[in-house]
Amino acid sequence: MGTVYLTGAGPGDIDLLTVKALRVVQQADVIIYDRLANPDILAEAKDGCEFVYVGKEDSHHTLPQEEINEVIYQAALKHDNVVRLKGGDPMVFGRGGEEGLYLRERNIKFEFIPGITSAIAVPEYAGIPVTHRGVTVSFRVVTGHESRKTHSQIHWENFKTDDTIVFLMGLHNLNKITKKLMEIGKAKDHPVAVISRGTRPDEKTVIGTLEDIYEKAKDLPTPALIVVGEVVKLHHQLSWFEK
Ligand code: SAH
Repeated sequence: MGTVYLTGAGPGDIDLLTVKALRVVQQADVIIYDRLANPDILAEAKDGCEFVYVGKEDSHHTLPQEEINEVIYQAALKHDNVVRLKGGDPMVFGRGGEEGLYLRERNIKFEFIPGITSAIAVPEYAGIPVTHRGVTVSFRVVTGHESRKTHSQIHWENFKTDDTIVFLMGLHNLNKITKKLMEIGKAKDHPVAVISRGTRPDEKTVIGTLEDIYEKAKDLPTPALIVVGEVVKLHHQLSWFEK
């Protein structure tokens, strides 16, 4: 039985892969990867390495998680070095914990290899610090995509805060998110950024307010994330990556 490396691929820019992640990719017998992991990373694999793609292009959803768990498990029964490669960090809305639990129950050895999360790195490439002295002392990372079948687990009242709020998977709910934030009392002109395809050559940042960001940003290509908070204003001085 092999070892599974639950590995973060970083947010897009291939140079944001960690040295440790690169090492396991180079030694991998099989790499099971997602839509958000930069496929150029696969070029680093050794000859004969097997690639298994478990994401679908046309939706947010990958294979059912249960099936992905089983694919990883079966790979570990056959190979010594199994890399499960995920966008950003495996434990930030990456279901890395669930995959770890599945493997633990079946006595498969695993290691987590953290990745640079898009939640911090993508705003950073857009010149938006998630914390900034004198502006905000904390930030939170929230899912903007909730299963429609279940009741909302987001407690909007909790967003009456000066925290920077980063919404992942939220572009399709942008209108709803901005409305909710205004309903709980945030000002119409509260700053918002939407950053599309962050850290990639075609990164694009759109700056607006709770009131107008939906119209400005709704057609941006995914992946995209939403940043809400006063730190967004620093973009004008700190933007460095987008030409
Ligand atoms: N584990 C990942 C997040 C998975 S959730 C991480 O740590 O980064 C997927 C969401 O992340 C996307 O819907 C999008 O909101 C965000 N995301 C990932 N990569 C991105 C990128 N390059 N640019 C903008 N948003 C990104």
